Amino acid sequence: MTRDIHPGRLLGKVVVVTGGARGQGAAEVEALTREGARVIATDVARAPGCRRLDVTSESDWAELAAEIREAHGQVHGLVNNAGVTWRARVDDVRPEDMARVHAVNVTGPLLGIQHLLPLMRPGASIVNIGSSAALTAHYPVAYTASKWALRGLTKTAAMELGHRGIRVNTVHPGFIETDMTASAAPAFREVNLRETPLGRTGTVDDITPLVVFLLSDDASFITGAEIPVDGGFTAHGGAKAISDALRTDA
Ligand code: NDP
Repeated sequence: MTRDIHPGRLLGKVVVVTGGARGQGAAEVEALTREGARVIATDVARAPGCRRLDVTSESDWAELAAEIREAHGQVHGLVNNAGVTWRARVDDVRPEDMARVHAVNVTGPLLGIQHLLPLMRPGASIVNIGSSAALTAHYPVAYTASKWALRGLTKTAAMELGHRGIRVNTVHPGFIETDMTASAAPAFREVNLRETPLGRTGTVDDITPLVVFLLSDDASFITGAEIPVDGGFTAHGGAKAISDALRTDA
């Protein structure tokens, strides 16, 4: 669905967001709309204001691309936000779990890029939503491996599409309060908090300003970048526990 235009940094830009029905995707849709973008919110779930699109479906992407060509002629931005987790560990994850998570978290963004690329002109911007799990080890192995793979896809796409003036960047959220983290065990939150230098969990509003910036012309010389938004969680490589243990000024 195309939303209303308001003055802002993304005035008139046509932007597709995947997984836009809830969580970070819904917040991105709101923020981009506020900045003047004509946002096409999509989701596998049927939700008000969202066009149905399963990111793993080539025919869904082809239909969306045809619709955008007809309605707008071009697309300025793509936010590959849809993602799924699966909390099996190395010793019990099944090949089908690996494949399913990879399909949504890696093949989905690839299909989005492939199908919308013909509608992108110089200045277009793609933002892939990675994870702090893409920068570290993390026990849900299917999810972790998929997000590392998404980094590889993003770096390659940034290199391949640069000569066409198309930018591709990754945002790596840390622990963000959404349905995805609400379903995690309480210990997951506690340890995340302990290991986060800024001492709090994130909200969807911590993510959206960076997504807006990367889609805007203010970021016109930024491509292939990976930016954690995680309160410092991935910055210390485990050294926070040492620092905390030796702290004398607490
Ligand atoms: P949510 O689970 O709250 O929202 C994800 C959305 O993606 C849902 O609306 C979901 O639909 C949709 N979705 C799932 N599969 C598909 C599909 N095949 N096609 C289209 N849409 C789909 O997650 P978040 O908002 O928390 O996560 C957004 C992104 O941020 C994800 O890529 C996630 O991996 C990443 N992330 C999240 C973190 C967090 O702490 N929350 C941390 C790091 C990264 P449905 O409702 O039907 O499942």
